[in-house]
Amino acid sequence: MTHVRTVLGDIDPADLGVTYAHEHLVIDGGRPVELSPDFLLADVDLLAAELADAAGLGLRAVVDAMPADAGRNVAKLAELSRRTGVHVIAATGLHHDRYYGPAHWSARLTEVELADLFTADVVEGIDAHDYSGPLVRRTEHRAGIVKVAGSDGGPSARDARIFTAAAETYRRTGVPILTHCEAGTGALEQVRLLEGLGVPAERVVLSHVDKVVDPGYHRELLATGATAEYDQAFRWGDRPNGTLALLTAMIEADLGDGIVLGMDAARQGYYRAFGGAPGLRYLLTDFSSAMAERGLGADVQRRLFVDNPARVLSFR
Ligand SMILES: [Zn+2]
Repeated sequence: MTHVRTVLGDIDPADLGVTYAHEHLVIDGGRPVELSPDFLLADVDLLAAELADAAGLGLRAVVDAMPADAGRNVAKLAELSRRTGVHVIAATGLHHDRYYGPAHWSARLTEVELADLFTADVVEGIDAHDYSGPLVRRTEHRAGIVKVAGSDGGPSARDARIFTAAAETYRRTGVPILTHCEAGTGALEQVRLLEGLGVPAERVVLSHVDKVVDPGYHRELLATGATAEYDQAFRWGDRPNGTLALLTAMIEADLGDGIVLGMDAARQGYYRAFGGAPGLRYLLTDFSSAMAERGLGADVQRRLFVDNPARVLSFR
C-alpha cells in the first residue's frame, strides 16, 4: 500500500482529490523575501481565506514547493491545512542557489550529509527552525516531496550535488522528487541526471516547463516517463496562452497522463486576500473554462487535477 505524505499525516492517494502541484502557501521570510518583499506570505488569516476560497471551488490538496531555509514554515502549513481541510504536502530539499548565497551551509555539507537532513524531514519531521541553524527541533509534520532546483539548461555543478542528495533520499524513502526548471529549461538534463542516480523518471515532476512553448521539447520530456508541471497559465497577459496551447497539443498526442497543474503563485500580488489577482481560484474558474472551450472537459481535467497528482505524489 502506497501513500501520500501530508503535513497532517499519510493518506490514501485516492483521497487526495483536486490538487495544485506547485504552490507557495507560506513564505515566512528568508532570502526570497529579502530579495522581494512581495514574496512574503506569512499572515495565516489571509492565507487561510485565500485557500478556503479555492477549497470552496473544489480544491482539496496543495503541494507547497518551498524547501529548506528559504521561508518554509511547516507549523503554519499545518495550521492552514487544519483550518481549511485542504491537504498540504510540504517539501524538503533545497531551492536555487540564488536563494541562499555562497556562505550558506548547503555549500559545505557533503551529498550524504544533505541526504541525511532531507531524509530526517521525510521520516521524522521537518525542523521547526527550518534548518536555519544551529539547533534542530523536529516537528510532527513530515515532508512529502523533495524539491530541488536546476539552472539554465540543466543542473550546474552545485545543483548536481543537491540532486545527488535528493536521489539518495528517494532511494532511502521512496519520496517523489519535484524540480525547478530555470526558465522552463534543462528538464531533459535533470531527468537524465536523476535516472543515472537510480531515480526512475516516473518519480520526477518537472516544474515551470510551460515557460518553453515548444511541443517538441514537451513530447521529448514526457516520452521519458517524467511528469511535467505546468504553472504559467495566468501569466500570458495579452499574448496567446502558451500553457493552454501546450496542454491541447499534449492531450492530442495522448500524453495527458504526464501533466499536472499548479500556479506557483508565490506573491502577495497574486492573492486576492492580499488585494492581488487572479487568486488561487484561477485554475478552477477562468482556466477551467478556457480548457473546456478548447475541448478539454471534465474527463481531461480529472486526469490533470486528480489522477495524475495521486500517482506522482505517492511514495514508492
Ligand atoms: Zn515555486
